[in-house]
Amino acid sequence: MFSASGFRKCLRALACCLATAVLPASGALAKDVAIGVFVYQGERAATEDWTPLLDYLRDAVPAHRFRLDQYDAEGLRGAIAARQIDLVITNPGYYVAMEAEFGISRIATLVSPLALSTREAIGSAVIVHAGRQDLRELTDLAGQRVAAVAPAAFGGYLVAAREMLQRGIDPESDLKEVKFVGLPMSNVIDAVLKGEVDAGIVRACFPEVLAQQGLLRIEQLRILSPRPQVGLPCGLSSPLYPDWPIAVTRETDPALAREVARALLAMPAVAGGLSWSVPADYQPVHDLYRELRIGPYAYLRDITPEGLLRRFWPWLLAALALLAGGVVHTVRVEHLVQRRTAELRESLRARDLAETRMRESQEQMDHLSRLSILGEISGSLAHEINQPLTTIGNYARTVLRRQGNGQLTPEAVTEACDEIVHEAERAGGIVQRIRHFARKREATRDPADLPAIAAEARRLIVGIMAQAPEIVIDNRIGGSCRALADGAQIQQVLLNLIKNAVDASRDLPAARQGIQILLEAKDKRLLIHVIDRGVGLGAAQRAHLFEPFFTTKQDGLGLGLPICKTIVEAHGGRLWAEPNADGPGMRFSVSLPCHEHAA
Ligand code: ADP
Repeated sequence: MFSASGFRKCLRALACCLATAVLPASGALAKDVAIGVFVYQGERAATEDWTPLLDYLRDAVPAHRFRLDQYDAEGLRGAIAARQIDLVITNPGYYVAMEAEFGISRIATLVSPLALSTREAIGSAVIVHAGRQDLRELTDLAGQRVAAVAPAAFGGYLVAAREMLQRGIDPESDLKEVKFVGLPMSNVIDAVLKGEVDAGIVRACFPEVLAQQGLLRIEQLRILSPRPQVGLPCGLSSPLYPDWPIAVTRETDPALAREVARALLAMPAVAGGLSWSVPADYQPVHDLYRELRIGPYAYLRDITPEGLLRRFWPWLLAALALLAGGVVHTVRVEHLVQRRTAELRESLRARDLAETRMRESQEQMDHLSRLSILGEISGSLAHEINQPLTTIGNYARTVLRRQGNGQLTPEAVTEACDEIVHEAERAGGIVQRIRHFARKREATRDPADLPAIAAEARRLIVGIMAQAPEIVIDNRIGGSCRALADGAQIQQVLLNLIKNAVDASRDLPAARQGIQILLEAKDKRLLIHVIDRGVGLGAAQRAHLFEPFFTTKQDGLGLGLPICKTIVEAHGGRLWAEPNADGPGMRFSVSLPCHEHAA
């Protein structure tokens, strides 16, 4: 415990801090280093409080001339902003606020004689009239009138306000009234004692100081939610916070800051009992400001829909603009996509139409080409059909004659009828094949039986040509390779190639008139070669062979080979011509892709 004189000394020191100060008239002395001091009781001079410090610094740091400038909270803020001071001495609350706002930084923390440590120095006492039996805890204050020094007073309001908040009482809304009575702090005690309010908030130890000075009978008051602290002879309703710091501003010369800090740490506790220690941790003060959402944390109050709107409206506006832009963009893109899709659909439709027309005209051309081949190869068709008709007529006349002269035997009738039937079938077969070949039809793709197609082409040629040469089919296709093809079109190609081969060898000796159709499978392709021993073609003529209207025949059109080429290429194949490797004449080759699984 404190000795009586020690306690007196301590109280005097505290009284120095709490006492009001008046700026001395002689403050006009020119000084190089201005120490801005927050005077929270601005009625009486604080010179007495800080003169020992001033004197000490003048001695310890003689290279500089120190002066003391006293300010209230706003004045101190303005002075820092205007760079009028080099050192700042203020309470922990304002220090934290100005640290956030101006970047001032502490270089030492006051060691008050009454404080338990630099970290545990300032607290609040919430006092009520001793007769108020209904008020015992801070929570009893709900709905009561409470006096305090000022909204920004640290020990005189904020520390207690945080304590109430932590116990579920919001001082801003749960109290009936908070009456800020201003300085001196004794105003709060007066209001409590006069019954103008139900409770009052003062800095811890202030009632004890007044009692010590004979200005108050301490038993008239009672502390709410008392928190006795070992070693602290004062009533307390809150935890203790760090003591006042001395800080430098951003503009303070670092060398000066160093010298002052060194001097302060070496400063002995002088008459007032004040000394300085290494800077305390002011995080608890930050926490207090954050919880109360004031000072540097006032923005936290804005975290309500309206607050956020007020604070972030430019961003919200930008976000809305972006969103609107996004929507417009999406709608536009959607519109464009729809338009392009419609255009695409239209062009696909046009393409389909064009393809249909092309296919129709191709089919038309195929048909005409077939008729043309027929026209060319059936020069002696009348003669061919005439032959069986003549034979039929002859047999019929023979039967009639024999009947007339009585020589008609049943055997003769049977023989004549057999021949007539045979010849009639022969003529009918010729007509049938021509009609089948000449009919109009649509292109198909089926597994093609090439040997059968070649055989049918040979039958057709032999059936309708007056003097068809010998046509040998050499089938060397093995394995499972089949072509997917339109059989009639491939037959048409073969007929064209065979007809050209016949034409090329027509006027040559019999030995050069044979035609070979060679079928083989090679490298996943089916090959059809039409080989003749005819007049052949020179290189210059071969270069134009597949061009439309190239012909060496008097009655030729020069369309047969171009049409064949178109048909073969429509099957994914190739048609080409080269001289016969085994003698005179030409070899025309068709290659078609193999479809292994086309069964
Ligand atoms: P066209 O038979 O109406 O002349 P093609 O396109 O079928 O039309 O033939 C074009 C030309 O190619 C023929 O006139 C002929 O000169 C030549 N040709 C085609 N096949 C052979 C062949 N096997 N031998 C020699 N020349 C040929």
